[in-house]
Amino acid sequence: MGKLIAVLPGDGIGPEIVEQALRVLHKVEEAFETKFDYEEALIGGVAFDETGHPLPPETLSLCKRADAILFGAVGGPKWDQIQPPTLRPELGALLPLRKELGLFANLRPARLYPALAGSSALKSDLVGGGLDILVVRELIGGIYFGEPKGRTDNGTRAVDTCVYTQGEIERIARVGFEAARKRSKRLCSVDKANVLETSRLWREMVTRIGSEYPDVELTHILVDNCAMQLVRNPAQFDVIVTENLFGDILSDEASMLTGSLGMLPSASLGTGTFGLYEPIHGSAPDIAGQNKANPLATILSAAMMLRHSFAMEDAAKCVESAVEMALAKGARTADIASGGEEIVGTKVMGDIVIREMN
Ligand code: NAD
Repeated sequence: MGKLIAVLPGDGIGPEIVEQALRVLHKVEEAFETKFDYEEALIGGVAFDETGHPLPPETLSLCKRADAILFGAVGGPKWDQIQPPTLRPELGALLPLRKELGLFANLRPARLYPALAGSSALKSDLVGGGLDILVVRELIGGIYFGEPKGRTDNGTRAVDTCVYTQGEIERIARVGFEAARKRSKRLCSVDKANVLETSRLWREMVTRIGSEYPDVELTHILVDNCAMQLVRNPAQFDVIVTENLFGDILSDEASMLTGSLGMLPSASLGTGTFGLYEPIHGSAPDIAGQNKANPLATILSAAMMLRHSFAMEDAAKCVESAVEMALAKGARTADIASGGEEIVGTKVMGDIVIREMN
């Protein structure tokens, strides 16, 4: 039996972009003489419409059986007002899925391809040489999950709680050090240790784990300074490791340095090889069903799946090089066009990447 991939296209542009990533995976099967099994399931708004819940039990049980998950996106205006909010696509499907599956490490590579330097939000003298930053974000702890949480005093007082344990920090720190070891051997840990107790524990633990990685140069930076440095001199960063809330914000900031949301993949990993792979963007309801969506972030997420879940480094590189070649030869969906180029649709972008894999 081949590796089982749970395919969760979701809402909006999800089905269109996942379709292209699947075509790329079929090409990998052919080129690398392997076979994957695929099972598709409902998630998000479409799942709510059909079953009354954005994360139906059959979907969760498929995910638990699978070796990896290929995820599109969930959400859209149609489901924004569902009550209670825990039945809305993101709160009711994505967050519980990550938590249930123990996916504590979110890897978000923000790479600016030289061919797209013109699309970056920054001036070309800052990013002209390209950019390649990996944000490692803790995904199932911190203020998004801490208790107590909610409203008291007749709704006039709100509370969220930020909690981290030594164990939670240790395991994400290790992911950061291991990633840095495979890259430039530099790790920057981001916290707010001048104000927050959880950040002081964070810094203490990351420093302690760092003693086991003497080959990796560890630096610490306060989150406010990091936000500023990312736009002032982003090339100074290689691997960044940080907690949930800071990572959410900083990884979106880093993504804008690279031009378009449509280019950025992510992997959410637990302790083994299992992982959930998804583009960082949402369901883009404004362009859904129009063959306009950029499928590259999802295709690059499939490449991360090949690398992290299936140990197929050569296949991952083959897909990534094909994307790079497609861009170098001028293939552009509307979101990454800077004027003058011929614009291609979702499916043709998939065709071009597949052609470049030959
Ligand atoms: P979005 O990322 O869906 O879209 C932001 C803008 O970027 C839009 O103009 C969109 O057209 C464009 N865009 C996004 N992906 C693109 C692609 N692949 N190709 C071309 N253009 C692309 O963010 P939003 O509009 O704030 O959210 C829309 C919905 O998606 C909301 O319901 C939100 O909750 C949900 N969302 C889901 C996820 C997820 O599933 N992981 C993440 C973020 C937002």
